[in-house]
Amino acid sequence: MKRMLLAATLSLGLVAPSAAQPPPPPVRLAPPQVISSQAISLDQFTRGTLRFVILHELGHGLVDLYDLPVLGREEDAADRFATFWMSPDDQGEDGTDAVAAMEWWMASAKQSGASREQLPWWDEHGMDEQRAYQIACLLYGRSPDAFGPLAGRLGIPERRRMGCQLEAAQNSASWSHLLKGQVSQLHNLDGFFTNLTYEPAGPATQDAAAIARRYKILEEIREIVRQFRYTDVNTTVKLVARDCGESNAFWNTKADQLTVCYELINDIASAGYATGHR
Ligand SMILES: [Zn+2]
Repeated sequence: MKRMLLAATLSLGLVAPSAAQPPPPPVRLAPPQVISSQAISLDQFTRGTLRFVILHELGHGLVDLYDLPVLGREEDAADRFATFWMSPDDQGEDGTDAVAAMEWWMASAKQSGASREQLPWWDEHGMDEQRAYQIACLLYGRSPDAFGPLAGRLGIPERRRMGCQLEAAQNSASWSHLLKGQVSQLHNLDGFFTNLTYEPAGPATQDAAAIARRYKILEEIREIVRQFRYTDVNTTVKLVARDCGESNAFWNTKADQLTVCYELINDIASAGYATGHR
C-alpha cells in the first residue's frame, strides 16, 4: 500500500508549482545499504532491481505514449527515469531500492566476466558498470549527505561528484517538466485505462511468479500509469508478467504493453544469491 500512496502523492509533486525544481530531501543518515552492499538482503536486492527494471520499461512507455523528446540515448533516459522515480523524496522513497538495482548492474558485470574485446560497445545500452555508476551518481547528486558513503565506496572522485549534483537536478527537472503536463488530475480526467495480468507460470518459474505477485510489481506500475492522462480513448496500457522463454522485460509500442518475464526474476534472484545477498 505504501507504494500506491507514494505514487498518488508523487503525482501531486509533479503538479506542484515548484515541480521544476523539487525541494531537496531532508538530510538523513546514510542507510546501511549505502555503506555496505552486504547490508542489502536478497529480498531487497530482488525487489529493488525489479522495480528499477519495470520503471525503466515504463520510461520507454511514457516516451512512446506521449512522443516525448529524447536527447541522448533512450536507454540512458529510461534508466534515468527509473532512478528519478526511485530517488529519495519526502514521500517514503529512501533510495535503497535504487542502490539494490545498482548492485545488480555491478553483479551482472562481474558475472559476465566479459573482456574489453568481448563487450558489446555497439549496443544501445551502456555497459553494466556505467549503468550502475549512473544510478549512484544521480543518487549522490540528489542527496550528497545520505549517499556520500556510496560515492566513497565506489571511488567516485570529488570532481565527478560536483557534476552529479548538477545532473541529478537536471534529470529531476527534465522529467518533472515533461510529465507535469500529462498528469490526469490537471485535466479532470482519469488516467490511462489499464489491464493487469499475472499469467500462470511453468514449473521452472513458480517461485518467480509468486515473488512478482507478492511484490505487486505490476500494481505499482498501474498506480503510476493511472496518474497520467490518456491521449487516445482507445489506448489501454497492458501490464503483463509471464513466462517468455527468455530473461527480459520490454515495452511494446504497438500493443502499449509492458511485459516482465518470470525468467528475469529468477535471474535477478540468482545473481543476488551468487553475490552473497541473503
Ligand atoms: Zn530499455
